[in-house]
Amino acid sequence: MVNNNMNQQTTDLIIIGGGAAGLMAGVLAGELGLRTVILESKPKPARKLLMCGNNRCNLTSALPVQKMLADYGDPVAPFLEPALTAFPPDALRAWFHKNGLQTKAQHDLRVYPQSEKAADVHHFFTDHLAEYGVSLMLNTPAREVVPQKSGGLVVKTDNFDLHAPCVLVATGGVSYPKTGSVGDGQKMALALGHKITPYRPGLAGFDMPPKWIAANPVSSLPDVTVNIVSNGKTVATTHGFLEIEKYGIGGPAITNASRIIARLNLKNYHFEIEQDGNRWTLDPVQVRPLKEAMVTVGGIALNGINSHTMESKQISGLFFAGEVLDVDGPSGGYNLQAAFSTARLAIETISKKIPGQRKVVQKKPIRKNSPQQNRRSSNEKRYHKNRRRP
Ligand SMILES: Cc1cc2nc3c(=O)[nH]c(=O)nc-3n(C[C@H](O)[C@H](O)[C@H](O)COP(=O)(O)OP(=O)(O)OC[C@H]3O[C@@H](n4cnc5c(N)ncnc54)[C@H](O)[C@@H]3O)c2cc1C
Repeated sequence: MVNNNMNQQTTDLIIIGGGAAGLMAGVLAGELGLRTVILESKPKPARKLLMCGNNRCNLTSALPVQKMLADYGDPVAPFLEPALTAFPPDALRAWFHKNGLQTKAQHDLRVYPQSEKAADVHHFFTDHLAEYGVSLMLNTPAREVVPQKSGGLVVKTDNFDLHAPCVLVATGGVSYPKTGSVGDGQKMALALGHKITPYRPGLAGFDMPPKWIAANPVSSLPDVTVNIVSNGKTVATTHGFLEIEKYGIGGPAITNASRIIARLNLKNYHFEIEQDGNRWTLDPVQVRPLKEAMVTVGGIALNGINSHTMESKQISGLFFAGEVLDVDGPSGGYNLQAAFSTARLAIETISKKIPGQRKVVQKKPIRKNSPQQNRRSSNEKRYHKNRRRP
């Protein structure tokens, strides 16, 4: 960073939000030699990433990219297509492997880290940030983004202002607010002229009537087909596990239905369930609240963003990635893949905008228990100790 005056420093890139998209963007910016600062409001980055896939972290899918795009559906698929085809699941996995995180696909085509530990993905990112010298400032919420007449943008925090030619907003959706994603990035975008599409729960369960709950003990039904029926017509179908929960119904077949219902804005609907030749009807009371949903349907309106660059159409140098956008996908690694692909596309564009900075930094993969990895652990401790300061 370069000191402009007592209160304002300059860097190449400021990333707001140290979640899945922000950390991926930070590592890629580090690879390209961009001087980068990540501002993270929480004391620990990527809290949602740590919860992913029941702490196993379903990173992506082994499905072909065109099938994934079809599953995202409209209006997400046409927007995501450039990002997802530029950095599809197999390229994401190859990038993780090259950089030392092995992955594996399960029979259901969900892709996890080899260790099935979300904490390993978390460490993968924080280790690489430290090695590239990317500054991750914790307990540092960004408050405002101010475009400058003289060029670039200033990000204001409670204690200092930072200036950069490019700012990437990666503050997430609004579900699970305890993880830090509370809608700040959407408010910043709104203040700069972007539109926000209304928030709705995506990937959430449904409450069932008390009588139904009393008659149906908690259990798990595999291989269920769920037909979403509205006004006498089947409008969509999902497949997979159905979980009978204390509150009602959940599991991927049901939670996937919730985002379709939100996207289609359905008011009157019920589910017709098929399993092993049996058919029955479920008439849910309501979807579970947004704070419990795994993703947010809604966010920064996609028509305000260039889908080939992730740059704002209104404000030059302002970029967005991840769930802060009106982007969501089904259960199965679609949401992390969207966060990683949009982050990659943004960094590709940013690196072309900042002349003279682009230099690919080569790194060797680190073997488990190697002296290099042991050094990495001590580096990490030092890094965690020091990283609160710019
Ligand atoms: C329980 C659960 C399980 C999930 N499992 C999976 C899964 O297995 N696979 C999958 O693909 N998806 C999964 N998801 C969804 C996935 O976690 C999200 O889609 C993904 O994390 C979005 O990444 P993001 O970087 O856009 O936002 P986030 O990961 O939410 O990160 C946003 C970051 O920005 C920070 N921030 C917010 N405001 C500010 C501010 N003003 N200044 C600085 N920092 C700020 C936040 O503290 C946070 O760290 C799951 C979600 C949940 C809740």
